[in-house]
Amino acid sequence: MSTQPPPTESAAAPVRFRDDVGVELVKHSASDSDVLWAARVSTAGEQSLEELTKDPERSRGLINFLMRDRHGSPFEHNSMTFFVTAPIFVFREFMRHRVGWSYNEESGRYRELQPVFYVPAADRKLVQQGRPGKYEFVEGTPEQRKAAVAAMEESYAQSYAAYQEMLAAGVAREVARATLPVGLFSSMYATCNARSLMHFLGLRTQHELARVPSFPQREIEMVGEKMEAIWAELMPLTHAAFNANGRVAP
Ligand SMILES: Cc1cc2nc3c(=O)[nH]c(=O)nc-3n(C[C@H](O)[C@H](O)[C@H](O)COP(=O)(O)OP(=O)(O)OC[C@H]3O[C@@H](n4cnc5c(N)ncnc54)[C@H](O)[C@@H]3O)c2cc1C
Repeated sequence: MSTQPPPTESAAAPVRFRDDVGVELVKHSASDSDVLWAARVSTAGEQSLEELTKDPERSRGLINFLMRDRHGSPFEHNSMTFFVTAPIFVFREFMRHRVGWSYNEESGRYRELQPVFYVPAADRKLVQQGRPGKYEFVEGTPEQRKAAVAAMEESYAQSYAAYQEMLAAGVAREVARATLPVGLFSSMYATCNARSLMHFLGLRTQHELARVPSFPQREIEMVGEKMEAIWAELMPLTHAAFNANGRVAP
């Protein structure tokens, strides 16, 4: 959901606040059959393509076997490209995923960054309790929420006004951007395959079926949930086998 705040004094576009993230599938070549023909070359050689449609139950069983025994490479013969819009702090976490992912992000050197900033949604738990490694997040009071949102909005508006002042004074974009915070939205293309996506989802989502629980930051989890919903439509057997085998990437 996007909200419209009061305009800033900057002559540039008005500052906007967002409490969601965007994930759009822009390109793909990904289906369960990509896993099957890659795996069946082991036993069927060049006939593996013909085997695809023969026995759906056997296909389901084969994908489950590959997932369970962690034969991972058949899950790499597919490709999904997502367009992601999210705050910079999410991208910092995202780009730690090095293997089986390719990224291209908008440039703060070549274009003027747009004033779109992240604020937590009403259902985003605000208060952290417990010790490191055993955190729990709770709602927070309406006062805490009000204070957090007000502080963010004020700080964002100030930093964007400073950015604009520098640009107006002729300072280069790559220098002026230093004033902008990690709550600024950025955009990127991220390309992966099912295996690298499963590794990402195992670490960046929380799920009752996960054999190894992870405790990701909520905002990167929001991106992961949207990617997973898209992937589940493209590769339903692979997605079901991922869940059935504890959400551990093969
Ligand atoms: C809940 C959570 C909290 C985190 N907190 C922090 C933090 O406080 N600070 C911080 O810096 N990071 C943090 N991270 C990031 C984390 O350490 C990983 O960098 C990130 O999750 C990517 O995982 P990965 O390396 O397995 O993925 P990828 O980079 O995609 O690698 C996939 C797999 O390839 C293999 N691999 C890749 N590179 C190498 C290598 N160089 N050597 C050997 N094997 C390799 C490994 O098996 C790895 O699991 C956190 C991650 C999570 C999920």
